[in-house]
Amino acid sequence: MDLKSKIEKVLKKFPYNISFEIRDNIVFLYGEVESYQDWVEIGLAVGKIKGVEGVVNKIKWKGYPEEKIRKREERRRKLYEENKDKIIGEYDVVIIGGGVIGTIIARELSKYKLKIALLEKGSDVSLGASKANNGMIHPGVAPPKNTLKRKLNVKGNAMYDRLCEELGVRFKRVGSLWLITPRTLQKYRKYLPAPLYKFVSAYVFPYIVKLKGIRNGVKGIKVIRGKKIFEYEPKATRDAWAALYVPSTGILDPYELVVALAENAQANGVEIHLNTEVVGFIKQEDKVKGVVTTKGTFLTRYVVNAAGVYADEIAELAGAREYTIHPRKGVILLFDKALKNWVRHCVAELRFPAPKHSKGGGINPSIHGNILWGPTAVEIPDKDDTSVHREEIYEVLERYKNILPEFPTNKLIRYFAGVRAPTFTEDFIIRPAKWVRNFLHVAGIQSPGLASAPAIAEYAIEQLKKMGLKLEPNPNFNPRREPIPTINEMSLEELNAKIKEDPRWGNIICTCEMVSEMEIVEAIKRGAKTLDAIKRRTRAGMGTCQGSYCTLKIAEILSRELGVPLSEIVKENNGKLFDGAVRGEKL
Ligand SMILES: Cc1cc2nc3c(=O)[nH]c(=O)nc-3n(C[C@H](O)[C@H](O)[C@H](O)COP(=O)(O)OP(=O)(O)OC[C@H]3O[C@@H](n4cnc5c(N)ncnc54)[C@H](O)[C@@H]3O)c2cc1C
Repeated sequence: MDLKSKIEKVLKKFPYNISFEIRDNIVFLYGEVESYQDWVEIGLAVGKIKGVEGVVNKIKWKGYPEEKIRKREERRRKLYEENKDKIIGEYDVVIIGGGVIGTIIARELSKYKLKIALLEKGSDVSLGASKANNGMIHPGVAPPKNTLKRKLNVKGNAMYDRLCEELGVRFKRVGSLWLITPRTLQKYRKYLPAPLYKFVSAYVFPYIVKLKGIRNGVKGIKVIRGKKIFEYEPKATRDAWAALYVPSTGILDPYELVVALAENAQANGVEIHLNTEVVGFIKQEDKVKGVVTTKGTFLTRYVVNAAGVYADEIAELAGAREYTIHPRKGVILLFDKALKNWVRHCVAELRFPAPKHSKGGGINPSIHGNILWGPTAVEIPDKDDTSVHREEIYEVLERYKNILPEFPTNKLIRYFAGVRAPTFTEDFIIRPAKWVRNFLHVAGIQSPGLASAPAIAEYAIEQLKKMGLKLEPNPNFNPRREPIPTINEMSLEELNAKIKEDPRWGNIICTCEMVSEMEIVEAIKRGAKTLDAIKRRTRAGMGTCQGSYCTLKIAEILSRELGVPLSEIVKENNGKLFDGAVRGEKL
C-alpha cells in the first residue's frame, strides 16, 4: 500500500473530514475537530504510519486560540521589521535555544575553529524543559527499536562520566530498580489462574524486559527476587515479586549541567546571547542568510534549531516546517532532604502495557539528596503552561504510592512542571531540513533527551559535517570548567583556609542548603543576575524553607554586587532589567 492509501485508511477511523497532502514524506493535515484531544490522537495515528517522516498538524480544534496566535504573529512580524537591518555579526553556526541541547552542541562545536553564537530568548540558560525534569540519566532500556532515541540513549548515558568530570558537575550512577508486583501485568490478570499469573509476572516478564535492554545495548541488568529486593531498596513495597536492577542509571542536577556547558562553551569562544528571541530569518533561495532576533540579525552559514517546544515554529519561520510539537506536561513533586535515606535507586513499578507516551515515571533521589516523585504526562495546548493543580499533585501521590507505601508524603517542599516537546512521530528529529539547505533540526527532544544529550551533540555535528561544515580542530579548546566551590563539600580545614582568604566564605546566607555569601558573589561574577539564577547556580533558596529566610539577603547581595537598587532585583528576568544580551557578555 502506498503512503497516501495508508493515511486515508487511518483517517477513516476518525469521524471528521480531514484532508492532507504529502511532501517528501512529510504529511500536512487540514480540517476541524471537536477537541484538542482529537487533534492529538489524529496526529499520533498518522505519525505512526511507516514511511511518515513528519506530521505538520494544521487541523483546528474547537476553542483553537486564533486571536492569541494572530497577535503573536503580529508582534513577531513587527519585531522582525524593526530588527532585520541591524547586523550583529557574521557566524559559521548560529544555535537557537539555550537548553541542554543547544548548550551541549555549542560546547561540542567549540572544539573546532568556528565562530558560533547561541541565541536564547530567556534571561538565563536552562529555562525550558532542561530546568524542570527528573535529572535522570536513563539507561536506555525503554526506547523502541528503529528509533534515534534507542541509538542515542545508551551511547549518551555512557558519555556522562567523562563529561561531568571535565565540567565539574556532580554525577552519580545510582542504578534503577524496577519492581514487578501483582499490579505489573494487571490487565492480563483475568486471563490467567493466580499461580500462573504470579509465575509469568515474576519469572517470565522480567526476562522479557531484560532481553529488550540487552538488545538496546544496556549492560549489567540483573533480575532479583525475595529478600535481595529489600537489600537493594529496604523500604520498597513488600508485595514486590521480583525486580530488575539496571546499574547504569545516573542522576545529576540538570541546570548545573546546562550552566556548566554554557560556561565552558563560552570560555572556548562561543558567544552566548541571552534575552535574544529569534523572530524570523532572512533567506536567499533555499538557504538561511541571517537569523533575525529582537537584538538584530546574525548572519550565518548554518543554523541549528534546538528551540525545544518552539522548534516547530522556528522551523516554520525558516520555511522548514516538517513537524508539529504537541506539548506534553509533566508534574514532579520534590520532597525534603530529611527523607534522603528513603530511597537509594531510581525506583519504579513496572506496568505492562506501559502508560501512554511516558516511560512511566517513579521515585528517584536527586543528586542533592531530595526525593522526586513523578512525572505525569498530559497533553496540553499551551507550550508555556507549567501550572500545577491540586488534582495533579494527588495524581502523582496516588500513582506512585505503591512503590514506597510508608513514605511520609507530608514532607513535600515544592512541586513544579516541565513541558516535553514530542513530535507526532515520537522520535528525536535530528536531520538537515528537507527544503532549507543550511538548517539543522534538533527537535522532538523529549525524554530521554537529557540522558541522550552528549550523543545527540555528536550526532548533530556529524549531520552538520555532511551538510558541508568544515571542522578544523580548535587547538585552544579546554574541556575543563571549574565549578563554584561549595562550603557544603569542604573539609573543616579547607573551609578555615577559605575564611582566612575572605571572611564572606563563613557568612552563611542560606542555612537550609548551607550556602555562603562568597558562593553567591561567585555566581554573580559568573553572570547570575536574578534570584532564580543564583538559586540554580548555588542552591540558595532550594531547601526546606524554600527561601523564606534567605531571599531578601540574596537580593541585597545582588543589589550591592550589580550596583542596582534593591527594588530592581527580580526573581526571573522579565526582559527589561539586567539585559544580558550584549555580544560576548558573560552569562
Ligand atoms: C517533566 C519532565 C521530566 C523529564 N525527565 C527527564 C529525565 O529524567 N531524563 C531525561 O533524559 N530527560 C528528561 N526529560 C526530557 C528533557 O528534559 C528534555 O529532553 C531536554 O531538557 C530538552 O532540552 P532542549 O534543549 O531540547 O529543550 P529546552 O530545555 O526546552 O530548551 C529550548 C530553549 O529554546 C529557547 N527558545 C525557544 N524559542 C526561542 C526563540 N524564538 N528564540 C530563542 N530561544 C528560544 C527556550 O527559551 C529554551 O531555553 C524530562 C522532561 C520533562 C518535561
